Amino acid sequence: MTPAPAPANKSFVLRAINDVVFEDKPIPELGPTDVLVRILKTGICGSDVHFLTHGHIGDFHVRSPMVLGHESSGVVHSTGRSVTTLTPGDRVALEPGVTCRKCHACKGGRYELCPHILFAATPPTDGTLARFYRVPEDLAYRLPDGLSLEDGAMMEPLSVAVHAAHTLSAVGAGHTVVVFGCGPVGLLCMAVARTLGAAAILAVDIQPSRLAFAREYAATHTYLPPRMREGEPRVEYSRRCAEGICELMGWAKDLVKGTGEGGADRVLEATGAEVCIQTGIFVAKRGGVFTQIGMGADTATVPITTALVKELTIKGSFRYGYGDYPMAISFAAARKIDLAPLVTHRFAFADAPEAFEATKNGKDRQGKWVIKTLIDGPE
Ligand SMILES: [Zn+2]
Ligand SMILES: [Zn+2]
Repeated sequence: MTPAPAPANKSFVLRAINDVVFEDKPIPELGPTDVLVRILKTGICGSDVHFLTHGHIGDFHVRSPMVLGHESSGVVHSTGRSVTTLTPGDRVALEPGVTCRKCHACKGGRYELCPHILFAATPPTDGTLARFYRVPEDLAYRLPDGLSLEDGAMMEPLSVAVHAAHTLSAVGAGHTVVVFGCGPVGLLCMAVARTLGAAAILAVDIQPSRLAFAREYAATHTYLPPRMREGEPRVEYSRRCAEGICELMGWAKDLVKGTGEGGADRVLEATGAEVCIQTGIFVAKRGGVFTQIGMGADTATVPITTALVKELTIKGSFRYGYGDYPMAISFAAARKIDLAPLVTHRFAFADAPEAFEATKNGKDRQGKWVIKTLIDGPE
C-alpha cells in the first residue's frame, strides 16, 4: 500500500526529569510485516509518570529523549507489503512490546520474558504518544465492533490484569481473592477475578472512596486498614491488618501465624507497598498463591517463615504474554468487563502535560479522583 502524504509525526517527548516537549519526529518506515497506526487514544500509566518524575524505573534509565506512552489504540494508516491480517482503516488496540521471537523465552511461549524485548516508553524505546506508531501486524489487534477506541486503549492495563489473575495466578470458580490496591490495575484484577468465577473478592485500599468504587465495580468485600500506631513496627502493623481481614472474612486468626483455616486462595498485590505484601502473605490460604503485580520499593521484608509454613506459591507478574490480549478483548467484547467507568479523564494531545500532572497527583485541578486518564492523538 502506498500511504497518502502524511503530516509530520508529532510526538510527546521526555528529555530529562520533568522536561517534556512536543516534537516532530520522523514517520517510522515499515518493514514487510509492519503496520503504521494512526494513534487516537493513549492511557497514562503510573510508569509513564514515574519516568517523567524520576527519570528511571529500577534499572531502566532515560538516557536520551524518549516518546512517552504505551497504552494506545488507533486506526491502521498503512501496511507493509506482506501484511495479510489488517487493512488501512481497521481499528486496533496495540500491544506495545516487540520481542525477538528467537530466544528461549519466545520459543518457550513466555515471550514477556524475552531479554531483547523492545517495550514502548521503556528506555531507550520510543512510546506511543505520537501521531504514528509502527508495530508488527500481530501486535495490532482488531477491535470488535462493540468496543470503542477508548476500550482499545484500556486493553493494555486489562491485559496486565488478565496476565496476573488468569494466566499466572489461575483464579478460578469459587475462589476467594484478596486484591491490594484500587488503582486501575487492582480494579481490573477484581473484574477479571469476577469474570473467572471467583466467589469472594476483597478489595483493600487506604482510601474509603476508592473502596466504595471497588465495591460498586467488582469487589464483594472491602477492607480499610487501620492507621499505623506511633513507633509500631511495620510487620506488627501488617499482622494487625491481617487479623482485621480475618475477622471481616470469618477466617481463623491463626491463619496469620500460618496454621489456621480459611484465607485467600489467591492474593493479588497491586500496590508494591511493603505492608500490603506482608499482609497479603499473612492472609493467604495454606497452599495459596501470592502474586506481586504492583511495583513499589525495590526490596521488602516479608514474613518468609509464614510463607514457608503455608507452602505458598509466590509469583511475579510483569506486563503480559501469549493469549492475554485476546482474552482481554474477548472479556470486554462479551460485556463481562465494563471499562468505561474507569476512564475518568480525557485530554487533548496539546494538554498532555496536564494529563500527566493529574495522573501524578491522583486527582485533577478540581480535586476529582483520577482512575485512568486518556489523551487523544494529535490532530
Ligand atoms: Zn501501563
Ligand atoms: Zn525473545
